[in-house]
Amino acid sequence: MDQFATKGSDPSFLTIEQWARKIEEALERPNVVGPIRNIRDDDRREFDAIFIGGGAAGRFGSAYLRALGGRQLIIDRWPFLGGSCPHNACVPHHLFSDCAAELMLARTFSGTLWFPDMTGRTTSIKEVVDLFRRGRTGPHAVMNYQSKEQLDIEFVLNASARILDAHTIEAAGEIFRARTLVLALGSKPIRLNTLGRDLHGIHDYATLVETLDREPGEAIVVVGGSKTAVEYGCFFNATGRRVIMLVRDRLLKLINDGETRTYAIDRMREQGIKILEGATVSAILGDAEGRVARVVADTPSGELEIATDFVFQALGERPRSRLAVEALGVAIDDSGAVVVDEQLRTSIPDVYAVGDLIGAPMEMFKARKSGAYAARAIMGEKVSYRPSDWPDFLHTHYEVSWLGLGEEEARARYRSVVILKMPPDNPNGLDIGLPASDRTMLYAMAHPHMSGFQKLVLDGKTRRVLGAHHVGYGAKDAFQYLNVMVKKGLTIDELAEMDELFLNPTHFIQLSRLRAGHRELRSL
Ligand SMILES: Cc1cc2nc3c(=O)[nH]c(=O)nc-3n(C[C@H](O)[C@H](O)[C@H](O)COP(=O)(O)OP(=O)(O)OC[C@H]3O[C@@H](n4cnc5c(N)ncnc54)[C@H](O)[C@@H]3O)c2cc1C
Repeated sequence: MDQFATKGSDPSFLTIEQWARKIEEALERPNVVGPIRNIRDDDRREFDAIFIGGGAAGRFGSAYLRALGGRQLIIDRWPFLGGSCPHNACVPHHLFSDCAAELMLARTFSGTLWFPDMTGRTTSIKEVVDLFRRGRTGPHAVMNYQSKEQLDIEFVLNASARILDAHTIEAAGEIFRARTLVLALGSKPIRLNTLGRDLHGIHDYATLVETLDREPGEAIVVVGGSKTAVEYGCFFNATGRRVIMLVRDRLLKLINDGETRTYAIDRMREQGIKILEGATVSAILGDAEGRVARVVADTPSGELEIATDFVFQALGERPRSRLAVEALGVAIDDSGAVVVDEQLRTSIPDVYAVGDLIGAPMEMFKARKSGAYAARAIMGEKVSYRPSDWPDFLHTHYEVSWLGLGEEEARARYRSVVILKMPPDNPNGLDIGLPASDRTMLYAMAHPHMSGFQKLVLDGKTRRVLGAHHVGYGAKDAFQYLNVMVKKGLTIDELAEMDELFLNPTHFIQLSRLRAGHRELRSL
């Protein structure tokens, strides 16, 4: 067992490079490396909390609790802190989405300007996956280094936790006791429950990066219609493959503005993705070697058989609550999420739950914030946390960002809705290269309709912003700050008063300035 002494005594110190090597080794041979233990021997206090799970929720909760002067311990079965986001979820998703955007550009301008001829070329998915697997250790190492050397977090890694009671955990052959327990166990992908579900060649976001052992063929079936399905589907498509999406309900129904959703989906179709809504998988048929050969789907126009050797399932995630239910009997809801109050307390005294384990929204901001709020509650602060009105985004080949109300909901709730948008409605059909900004300039000049879409929804009476929507690149950052201002009552006049940096991706400031002079606001 690896023992780190207290901070300051050199034998325990690992550089980021040494951490990287240790993590690699532990991922390859977990039992040989054994538990990685960082417990201070200069602090004899009882732990205020043991966090089971050192993902975003457990790590941020731990850092916050430590900063407040408390003592914490993280136990995680992986040899690194940070959890699924940098290991198999968000970070590969962003790599794949970056590739999708780059490849769409390369294919659109294939053989022109400085772009190579992409005609008939399929690019490797496996090479990108392998690239990710080689590259992910660096961020893992930074998180271990930062947690130990800079945040003073105590941990036992590469060791599963067993819950004995609400104050006692067994891990790495040791018993640990704490005043409270924080469950931060995350979620896992929901898998298909159809005939053939165990055939080789069926992947989800986790197995794709862990076990992909050969290059997918020319056709890929994606099952699902929300963020992960679309993000991975667009990447597969951008590599030059035929992608067929089987969507049980409606594609991307989480985008709450109709025109924005339509723009995003139209571009996906234009890139060649076949989208079948109202379609479900009835069976997956294999070949003699046990590999996927065909997918049988029920669609509104009848049964369909698709030849493929690769199925990507993206049916959502289920909170990993079984361990806590079996050991403690914590209450869960129908989705398997641990039920918590606004202090993140579960149904069992002194047991808290955070992150994906407590259900939607399963996003990083909620994981990190709920961890920090639980820490504050444990350290005696009066807190209340219930996520609401957060900005959101996803990737197609583009970035799609939104906040507040879509136009339809705004019109249902307000009498004088005003819309500022680009491109404007264009009955004559002229292909307009606006909005345009960094990363869409080439489209704006050569394929104008591909240069994005944006919309600001306003209440004409109060002049307040009700919602904002964007398809393009580079607006996401603005949305996280804009959302705070919108919640505080941002008006068109305040937007018009800001100093924009030309050529900004959302154009909201200059559009507002064009209209703010009107006493009676008008759409644009
Ligand atoms: C494909 C995909 C893309 C995503 N992209 C984004 C994005 O772009 N932006 C965004 O905001 N969110 C994104 N998310 C969501 C985000 O990844 C999660 O919300 C976040 O990682 C949840 O953090 P967590 O700490 O709750 O769980 P996790 O990070 O999963 O941490 C749980 C930890 O518990 C540990 N554990 C489990 N069981 C045990 C045990 N018995 N003993 C010890 N340890 C245990 C695990 O090893 C793990 O480290 C994405 C999710 C997916 C699936």
